[in-house]
This record gives sequence, C-alpha cells and structure tokens, in this order.
Amino acid sequence: MRAFTAEDYAARLARGSKHAKDSGLDGLLIAPGPDLAYFIDYLPVAVTERITLLVIPADGQATMVVPILEHDSAATASGVSGVRLVDWSDGTDEYVPTAALLAPTGTYAISDSAWAMHLLGLQNKLPGVRFEAMTNALPMLRAVKGEDEIERLASAGAAADATFERIVQVRFAGRSENEVAADLASLLREHGHTQVDFTVVGSGPNGANPHHEAGDRVIEDGDMVVLDFGGLKDGYGSDTTRTVHVGEPTAEEREVYEIVKEAQQAAFEAVAIGVACQEIDRAARRVIADAGYGDHFIHRVGHGIGVTTHEPPYMVEGEEHPIEAGMCFSIEPGIYLPGRFGVRIEDIVVATASGGRRLNNTSRELHIVS
Ligand code: ZN
Ligand code: ZN
Ligand code: ZN
Repeated sequence: MRAFTAEDYAARLARGSKHAKDSGLDGLLIAPGPDLAYFIDYLPVAVTERITLLVIPADGQATMVVPILEHDSAATASGVSGVRLVDWSDGTDEYVPTAALLAPTGTYAISDSAWAMHLLGLQNKLPGVRFEAMTNALPMLRAVKGEDEIERLASAGAAADATFERIVQVRFAGRSENEVAADLASLLREHGHTQVDFTVVGSGPNGANPHHEAGDRVIEDGDMVVLDFGGLKDGYGSDTTRTVHVGEPTAEEREVYEIVKEAQQAAFEAVAIGVACQEIDRAARRVIADAGYGDHFIHRVGHGIGVTTHEPPYMVEGEEHPIEAGMCFSIEPGIYLPGRFGVRIEDIVVATASGGRRLNNTSRELHIVS
C-alpha cells in the first residue's frame, strides 16, 4: 500500500478550497477529528481545550492556528507542508490570531467535531461572520474516495472478513456477549486494525435492539446472534454485520433471515452511478415490506465510510443526492422482532461505473455456530 504523500494532501486542500468556492463559502474551518486527519493527517495527541484550527480559504493560503507547545507535533504531520502555521501561547487570547484569518463578514463551514467553546469564542470576535455545520454545508466533502482510499477501505474490509471467519469458530453457547465481543476486538487488532469502534454482539432478544452493543447475557443454544463490528485500519474504516445462529434455526428464523438477505441483495443491485441515495434504501425496504415486516426495519439502510466508520452519504429516504463513482457506503437492512430476535446483514460497497462492488465478501448464508 502506497503511503499518502505531501502531494496527495495538497490535492485534498485544493479540493477543500474548490468545494468552499463552489458552495459560495469563504472557507472551511477544520477542527481536530476526522476532517483534520483527512486534510493534513494531523491527529493532535489529545483533543484539548486549546484551540487548533485549520483555515482553508476559498482563495489563498491554508493556515493552521496551533498552541505553541504543539507546534512541533503539528509540523511533522505528513500533510502539513502546504500549510502555514500560526502559533499562540497560553495566557494570550487565542481567538485574536484565529479571527484574524477570517473575513469579517464571511460565511464559513466548520467541522462537526469543533468544540462549541471555540465556535462561541470566534462568534464573539466576529459578529458579522456566519458559521455553518460542515455536514449541512458540504455533506459530500469526503464522500467520493480516490483509488488509494478505496484500496485502504478494501483492506480494512478484508480484515473484518478474516475476523468473521475466525469468530464463527469460537464457542458461543454458554459464553457471555461481552466475551464474544472481546474476541471480536482482539481479532480485529490481530488483523491490523489500530482502532476498534464497535463490537456488537446481540444475542436472542438483544438482537432486536439495533443499538445493543454487548452485555453480560449468556448466549444460549437456539439464539440468533447479530455480530456487527468494525474500526480503523491504516486510517480507514471497516464495518460489517453477519447474523449467526447457535445450533439449528427454526423455520421462522430461516424465513426472516432469507428476507433480509434478499433485501440486502436488492439494495446492492440498485447501486448505480446517478441513482439517488434514497433508492438504495427503497430497494431494501420494498423487499422487507412486501414480506410483511416493514414495521420491523427501523433504521436507514446505510451510511458512508472513510476516515470514520459513519459519515455521509446516507442511504436514507429523502437523500436525493446522486451516487457518484468512488462513493463508499454500507448496505445493512435488518428485521427486529422485539423481545425475540433480530437479523441484520451488512456489507461495505463502493460505487463503480459498472455498479456496486462489495468490500465485504464473507458468505451471506446463515452461519450455524456452536
Ligand atoms: Zn433460534
Ligand atoms: Zn455495522
Ligand atoms: Zn454500518
């Protein structure tokens, strides 16, 4: 895997300027978090109360305000060479040098991850400036991935797949969800993940709660178990879900499983350049509704993935943005039967000129575990 170069980050900064300009913004205000990692590969050791802010103007030089004690760390970030650094010291008003970089009556998009305290500090200095949340102003800023990014997402997906192939070999019955979740986390790390974001183990009735993480419930023979796990590898995300069954499933469990599988396939086949994101959701929802389970599919069908595991574009009713080549997102329909069990199947998919390409490739048949 080729390392990202200073030129790659310079191209991202130029893209940021262009997005700002095309949207009538005066610039982007990039705070520590995924946006800053994306633009210059800088992840401050800790996101602190001291302001660090990268200003990418629609026209002109990108400049980052940094606490002087973090100057040396910032200066070594691999994407920082095209950025001018402005230091500020403890005991001075940090919003003075920051505000000086902004047009006094401009409009700026600011990272979702910026601290409210810092935004309020800037608003106070610049009453004539309008601030917009990045996700509202520029939802597609990071949505279209380059070849090098897709390679990383594919590698993270393959690592998640390898994790699944191992987890189906562990013992489920008689162990707690937390124990299986710990297995998932260590397998993800063993397969190259540097960060584990979630390890959902929803057994039996817990599987009917899509946001159940894992608890001390002991898994029993006869349980459906939803396994949804992912994190970051080489700076890019993985996120896959498979639902397994402990021992032989009932006819009803098989039927519900097959409906979700069919819905997932229908949504995958709907992926094409130019199709509105909401059509992916509709394709899955139609299958589930036609089978009589429409009220039990209670979340959007997918979300984008990149330097985070959840980001735009969202595959949801009302999202009319067309799919573009290079967008990467999840397709994860589910059916949740309260008090009983849940089923979800999730793959990451990249949009290509010839349709969708799955970045998760473990079998989507119902796995039987012991
Ligand atoms: Zn069962
Ligand atoms: Zn997931
Ligand atoms: Zn997901």
